Amino acid sequence: MKYDLHSHTTASDGELSPRALIIRAKAADVDVLAITDHDTLAAYREIDHSVLGSLTLIPGTELSTQWQRNNVHIVGLNVPLECSTFTEAIASQQRSRIERASIIADKLAKKGFTDLLPGVLEKAGKGSIGRPHFAQQLLEMGAVKSLEEAFKKYLGTGKIGDVKQIWPELDEVVGWIRDAGGTAVLAHPDKYHLTRSKLHRLADEFIAAGGEAIEVVSGKQDKVRTRELAKLSLEKNLLASCGSDFHQPGKFWAELGQQSPLPENCTPVWDRW
Ligand code: AMP
Ligand code: MN
Ligand code: MN
Ligand code: MN
Repeated sequence: MKYDLHSHTTASDGELSPRALIIRAKAADVDVLAITDHDTLAAYREIDHSVLGSLTLIPGTELSTQWQRNNVHIVGLNVPLECSTFTEAIASQQRSRIERASIIADKLAKKGFTDLLPGVLEKAGKGSIGRPHFAQQLLEMGAVKSLEEAFKKYLGTGKIGDVKQIWPELDEVVGWIRDAGGTAVLAHPDKYHLTRSKLHRLADEFIAAGGEAIEVVSGKQDKVRTRELAKLSLEKNLLASCGSDFHQPGKFWAELGQQSPLPENCTPVWDRW
């Protein structure tokens, strides 16, 4: 069975519609897929169940949090689609995204990029508004030559457009998922560039808050690193998850269903299901 438990659609910063994502996942022989758009469950409102065939869809979302001034992402799997408290939590994340977008726009205006917001809003459409939409707008205006450059200069970690104080604390967000009966997964542990001891501290606080799993495999990653993360999951008694973090076609390191299988010594998060 092939699992891909982390992916994005046009409901956040992905390029494919939920329908196109499902078709691509099936073509990649994925058996179980979680769509985990940033701070939204909107993709699940437009699933055409006739496209699914034998593919199993796990309701999910990727929630933004802050932990010790880091922007940490928590994937919620098997979250409820109809639960008023969880839906309200998601709605508050959406309000934070809109508020953050106007803060980012003000900050970039001070750098001379005035009136960014209308174009950014248009790019986000009905989806979760985020930094990639600012990057697209800066690229379209010719302010940068690539999306990568937009992050490197203006939007990435520590740059002027990196506004993370807006997010709720990690333990609060993990609590939302736990209380809603979902499984909280610490997403892509390597993206935070933490030292070993800080990653252990993050894992400990995540577990104390009710977190249950960690992405041992996130996209195409180094085999040695996979073994280290498997060891961490065993040490901390965390279940292991895996996902591509797919956003768009053409990125071989984050392609649907292409990540290597979980090491055999891990307990997969789906053993629970
Ligand atoms: P946000 O959700 O608004 O905080 O933006 C974070 C998203 O930006 C991530 O989920 C990625 O999709 C994207 N991203 C982060 N860093 C980069 C980068 N260096 N180049 C391109 N996209 C990036
Ligand atoms: Mn993203
Ligand atoms: Mn993420
Ligand atoms: Mn993601």
